[in-house]
Amino acid sequence: MNIHEYQGKEIFKEYGIPVNDQAIVTTPEAAREAASAMGTTVVVKAQVLVGGRGKAGGVKIAKTPEEADARARDILALTIKGIPVEKVMITPASEINREYYVSITVNRNDNNLLLMMSRAGGVDIEDLAVNRPEEIIRFPIHPADGIDESGLEAALAEVFETPTLQSQAKDAVHRLYRIFMEKDCSLVEINPYALVEDEKLVALDAKVNFDDNAVFKHPEVEALRNPEELSADETTANAAGLSFVSMDGTIGCMVNGAGLAMATMDIIKLYGGDPANFLDVGGSSNPAKVVSALKIITGNPRVEAILINIFGGITRCDDIANGILEALAQIDLKLPMVIRLIGTNDDEGRRILEGAGLESYQSLGEAVEHVVAAAGGVKA
Ligand code: GDP
Ligand code: MN
Repeated sequence: MNIHEYQGKEIFKEYGIPVNDQAIVTTPEAAREAASAMGTTVVVKAQVLVGGRGKAGGVKIAKTPEEADARARDILALTIKGIPVEKVMITPASEINREYYVSITVNRNDNNLLLMMSRAGGVDIEDLAVNRPEEIIRFPIHPADGIDESGLEAALAEVFETPTLQSQAKDAVHRLYRIFMEKDCSLVEINPYALVEDEKLVALDAKVNFDDNAVFKHPEVEALRNPEELSADETTANAAGLSFVSMDGTIGCMVNGAGLAMATMDIIKLYGGDPANFLDVGGSSNPAKVVSALKIITGNPRVEAILINIFGGITRCDDIANGILEALAQIDLKLPMVIRLIGTNDDEGRRILEGAGLESYQSLGEAVEHVVAAAGGVKA
């Protein structure tokens, strides 16, 4: 789970990592008022759940309240990486002398945490890792052992030039580590960690990601969730207990089991089609889930054909067939639907479908060929 910069900075502030003041507004008029109250040059920053806002024109300096109004108007009209900007941050502008980078993340290759620091911050860390990897200092932290102090001091000395900066950064690393551990994060990142006037280091950006599997332990983290992180369909699907991910193709998929659902998407691609979603209805036979799933799929205007792929194990094909009929009684389905049923009680399942005038296949290849054709054929 990802949160906005301003939410991350509130956590930083609570944990004692220096950040500038901030106001969050949704209109140019409120931006002007906030800038006027701050009485200084401000930065107007888009609050969207993606990085690279600076490059996309979502971070602008404003010297006067009038400029803050104008820049907020520009930024609120932007769509950054497909996400419309609805909120902007107004924050006093710092005079930057240098931009550092600091983050803690999980290093899966190493079954460990990894502290990364660089004196070449401000730019994308991904670019830096590719073009100037030697500029990134990597320091492992094993969560069972905690931070090795003398090792950390040596690493800090490679990045920060003076003892004053090293001690500020050391303090910030400890605080970041506490955030990471106490809130079950998967990433905490400061970029830029900026050197401003009077040899002071300030977090001018904040990126905090939480481990989705641990959010249930932290109601205060759950409270930070932004509904816009998920598509409307994903939210509906989650509430219905379906495992669902929106994609941008034209073939709506309903599959039992996550592995089969992924394989189904691959096979659709192999046959020249494009899946509109990943959807795992789960291993049990629950007609209510089939109804919810079909409602979500048919509600997506991009869907041109539907593929139902059921490999019956614990899931019984006759239950699925009944669920499909139940759903069709509730939905006015105008889209072509291709059904593949195989496994437990598939004969019975097919008989139920045939009785309702629905054809089904045993072979996945055959079913996918039909659904790709029904969705308009192989896309160029
Ligand atoms: P990102 O592009 O989404 O990572 O957004 P950032 O918050 O990192 O802002 C992008 C860039 O804007 C930073 O790397 C800085 O160069 C610049 N910036 C952000 N805040 C300030 C500030 O207070 N003063 C100045 N001069 N530049 C800033
Ligand atoms: Mn940044």
